[in-house]
Order: sequence, then C-alpha cells, then structure tokens
Amino acid sequence: MSKRKGLDRRDFIKASAFGLAGVGTTLAAGPAAASGQTAPPVSAKIKSYRTLGRTGFKASDIGIGTSQTFPTEVLKAALDAGVNYFDTSEGYGRGQAERSIGEAIKGRDRKSLFITTKLRFDGLADTAAVAAKLDQSLERLQTDYVDCLMLGPSTAASVKNEVYHQAIEEFKKQGKVRFSGAGTHGSRMPGQGEPMDTILLAAVEDGRFDVLLLVYNFLQKEPGEKILEAASKKNLGLTIMKSNPLGRYYDTKNRIEQMTKDGQPIDERMQKSMEQMAETAKQAEAFIQKNGLKTPAEVKAAALKFVLADARVHTLNLAFNTFDDVQNFLALSGAGLGGKDRVLLASYEKDCGSLYCRHACGVCESECPSGVAVNTIMRYNHYFEAQGSEKYAMEEYAALETAKADACRTCAGWCERACPYGVPVRTLLCLAHTQLTLP
Ligand code: SF4
Ligand code: SF4
Repeated sequence: MSKRKGLDRRDFIKASAFGLAGVGTTLAAGPAAASGQTAPPVSAKIKSYRTLGRTGFKASDIGIGTSQTFPTEVLKAALDAGVNYFDTSEGYGRGQAERSIGEAIKGRDRKSLFITTKLRFDGLADTAAVAAKLDQSLERLQTDYVDCLMLGPSTAASVKNEVYHQAIEEFKKQGKVRFSGAGTHGSRMPGQGEPMDTILLAAVEDGRFDVLLLVYNFLQKEPGEKILEAASKKNLGLTIMKSNPLGRYYDTKNRIEQMTKDGQPIDERMQKSMEQMAETAKQAEAFIQKNGLKTPAEVKAAALKFVLADARVHTLNLAFNTFDDVQNFLALSGAGLGGKDRVLLASYEKDCGSLYCRHACGVCESECPSGVAVNTIMRYNHYFEAQGSEKYAMEEYAALETAKADACRTCAGWCERACPYGVPVRTLLCLAHTQLTLP
C-alpha cells in the first residue's frame, strides 16, 4: 500500500483529487520503479466476474487498459490476482503495450484470457492490408488470435466501415479474431466527427459489434447511460474507460507558478481563471472537512465504485502502472456504492465538477474561431498527467493536424463561454500547450 497513507490535510489537498490524480498511479511508486522489481505480495483478488454480453466470456470486473506503459511484472501480478481482461492497441506506446502483454501472458492458459486490441484503419484498402497489421499485433502479443479486434469510428457512418467488417469475417474464419468491437471518444477534430453517443448508438443499431468501449464516469453520466441502456438490450459486452474524472487544481496552480518563474507571460484572463480556481480550492478544503476524508484514495475509490456498481458494465479498464495499483484497484472488485460514497461524489460534483473537461464532449469546439481540438488536447493532457504517459501525450500533440492551443493565448475564450459545465478551459488549454509542447 502507499507509504503516504497518513497524509495530513494540507498534504492531502496537494496530493489529492484536487491536485494529483488520487489513488493508485500517482500515490504509488512510478512505473519505472515498478519495472524489473520483485513483486511485493498482493493480497487483493478479483471477487467478481461478469458475463461479457454475447461473447459469453466471464470477465473480471476490473480489466487492464492503459495508453502506454505496461510494466510486465505488474501485469503478471494482476493476472495472478485474477484479472483476465486486457484492452490494448497497436498505437499504445507504439506497440510497446502489446509487447508487454505478450511477455506477461507467456505460459498462461490463453483461453482464460480475453484480449482486445485496436488497429488504425485509415488508409487500409482491403483485408490483406488489415491482415498485415493484425499479424504484427499478434506477433507482439505472442498469441495466435485476439478475442476482439476493435474499430475506432469517429462518425456514425464509419461504423459501417466495410473494410473492417469484411476483414473481421475473414479473420473469424481463420481463427485470428473471435469478436468485433467498437470504441471511441467521439470526434478527434472540430467539425470532423460526431459525439461518442451518436457513434456508439449507431454501432449498437448496426448489429455486427459484440463489444463496446465507452467513456463513463460520475461526472459524465448521460452519454454513457444512453449507450449502456441500448447496448444491454442487445446483450453486447460493455467495457469502460476514463472512469476517473477528478480535477487537478494544484497541478494547474504549480504549473502557472513555474511559468511565472520561467518568465512566461501570464495574462490578465489567465490570472482571473487562477483566482477562480483558488476559490475552488477553498471549496475543496471545505469538501474535505465536510466529508471527513483521511486519504486521497477515498474520492477516487468512490468514483471507480460508481462505475463498478452499474450492473450493465462488465469490465472497468484501469491503467495498472505499479504494484500498488494492483492492490488498490483489486480491493475494489465486487464493491458496491455505499451511502457515504454517494454523498462524497455528489459533494465533489457540486464543489469541484467544473475542473473536469468532460471526455468525449467537444460541445464548445464549434465556437472556436481557430479550430482548436479542445477535447482532444485536454485528453492528451489527461494522458500526460493522470496516466503518466508523458512521451505518448507529447508525440500525439505534436502530430495533431489542427490548430494547437497556442492560439488560446490571445483569444477571448469563446469555448469557455460555451461550456455548459463552467470549465475554465482556456487557461487549461494554455497550460496544456506548455506542458505538451516538445522542447
Ligand atoms: S470545455 Fe466544456 S464544453 Fe468544451 S469539451 Fe470540455 S467539458 Fe466539453
Ligand atoms: S480559447 Fe479561443 S482559440 Fe482557444 S480553444 Fe477556446 S475559442 Fe479556441
């Protein structure tokens, strides 16, 4: 368990949901520390397995999903403790995630595991082109087949990608893929896609997908609710990402202080946003006192329990970076959402909900005169801060084809005015630009 269990209130605020990401990844030793170490004993075990819709597979209620770093020894500890679901992609860590899984599953009963991976289908003209990429994934995963090959559609129309569907049919015959799936955050670029719920509801309607991957958390219920409801009726397997929406006040504050020290300009509007955030921090103090919190883990644990308590959800994918993650996450397996958790989450939403740029949202993007991909940039920032995937986040940001957030410095903040959740997103975008820009 974390060495920082006995934090006092000041430390708690600095390292908590309002500052760092909370339980697990940020309170524990980092991925580098975990990698190559001998596994410490993990007492927590998976307590609940749920039938993954029409696939029939009994999946652990907590699965492994991350965007980049998979320390193999940590993955082995999670497997030993009963985790049997993996969500990965050829793109996570430029194939490194698949390689780490391949190492972790070596010598285990392959049939006891469910591995979902994703390929980028842009520019793939036919089944042969998809097969060439799939074979590379299979080689990295050290397996003959994946249980699910997932499409990442950005519009409702693209769920009918016939190259994908024809390839799936062929791969099923060959035994290389067992099931099809769709997962998305919605539009990646302003004006070039549609919201997550539009896309995944179209996937449900299409009828050919067996598994979905969607964003769902206690601050962002509505789109996920619609998808879970419709997909449950068709008995699809339902897996969740971005279940932890906790805000990051102190990271933001510290970065602004650093920018000041480095002589970078902090303009009047950014200063004003900072003052608003300072107000939120005061509310956070009150929030901590009101709820009698002792460790940062409590808020994040309640956020994860919110998802786990939903019977329509089969597997909640979490980023396992450390042995502490294995212990802390698996301690939540089978957990329900208690009265105290509900009070905590409602209170957090009221006091701190405005710090979270909702994943899979993008409502404000149409207001931006510069075409900044607000939601995608904030997601990359999430990878950097909450998942410890700094390199990946910076590379993705560098590769972004639309305007970058440097445009926000001289802007009146039209997006901010359009945000229904009151997110001080202009400031957050300016900070994200500084953080994500390669030196
Ligand atoms: S700033 Fe607000 S409207 Fe814009 S993407 Fe984030 S949550 Fe949605
Ligand atoms: S601050 Fe201005 S430039 Fe930046 S995303 Fe918002 S509207 Fe666009």
